[in-house]
Amino acid sequence: MHFLDLKPGISVEGDEIAAFRSEEKSNEWTYLMAGTHGDEVEGVYVLQKLFEWLKEKDDIKKNLIVIPVLNVDGYRAGTRTNAHGVDLNRNYATESWSAEAREPKYNPGPSALSEPENVFLDKLFKKYPPKIIISFHSWKPILNYNGDCEEVANFLARYNNYPVIKDDIGYPTPGSLGDYGPQKYNSPVLTFECPPLSDDKSLNDIWEENKVGLQALLNSDLII
Ligand SMILES: [Zn+2]
Repeated sequence: MHFLDLKPGISVEGDEIAAFRSEEKSNEWTYLMAGTHGDEVEGVYVLQKLFEWLKEKDDIKKNLIVIPVLNVDGYRAGTRTNAHGVDLNRNYATESWSAEAREPKYNPGPSALSEPENVFLDKLFKKYPPKIIISFHSWKPILNYNGDCEEVANFLARYNNYPVIKDDIGYPTPGSLGDYGPQKYNSPVLTFECPPLSDDKSLNDIWEENKVGLQALLNSDLII
C-alpha cells in the first residue's frame, strides 16, 4: 500500500504528530493508532511493525488512517500522560467527561478536548470519518470493544487468545476514546491491549503473537 502524509498535528511541546492515509478517497476510514499513553511502547511497536508490513503489501486496498504515536511528548519522556500531565484517554468530550480524576495518572485535563493531541485527532475524525478505530495500548492482554465491532474483536481473539471484553474494563473510564468514538462519530472502538514487556516477552515476541491475526484482519472484509 502507498500512504500519503497528512498535515501533522502539533503536541504541547511543539513536536509533530505524524499521520498518514491510504491513497484512495473514501467517506469512511479505518483508524490504526498507538501511543495515546506514551509509556506503552508495546502498542507502538506492534503498530509500527504492522504499518511496515502494510507498506510492502501492494495487493491490499483499504481506507486507512495511521497515527503511529499520538502522544509524542509522552512517548519521548516515557510517561503515560502528555506534557501537561493529562491522560489523553480521559480527555475526550464524552457525555460522562468529568474534571475529577480517580487517580492522578488519570488526570482528565481542565476541560474536555483541552489537549492539542486530542484536538488534532478530533479534526482528523471530522475530515476522515471513522468506520472503526483500533487503538493499540498495553496493560494486560485484552481486546476491549465499544460499539459495534465484536466481530473484529472475536476475529483477532481466535489468533491471539486474548479475552474479549465489551464496554467497561472493570473500572470507569470517563472521557475515553472508547466512549467518544461511538457517541460522537458512531464509530466502534477496539482498544487493543497488548501484554507488557517482561523478561520472558520482548517487543518482537508481542508482535509475533499478533502478527498473523492482524495481517489476516487487514486482509479480511471486516476492514474496509
Ligand atoms: Zn493505555
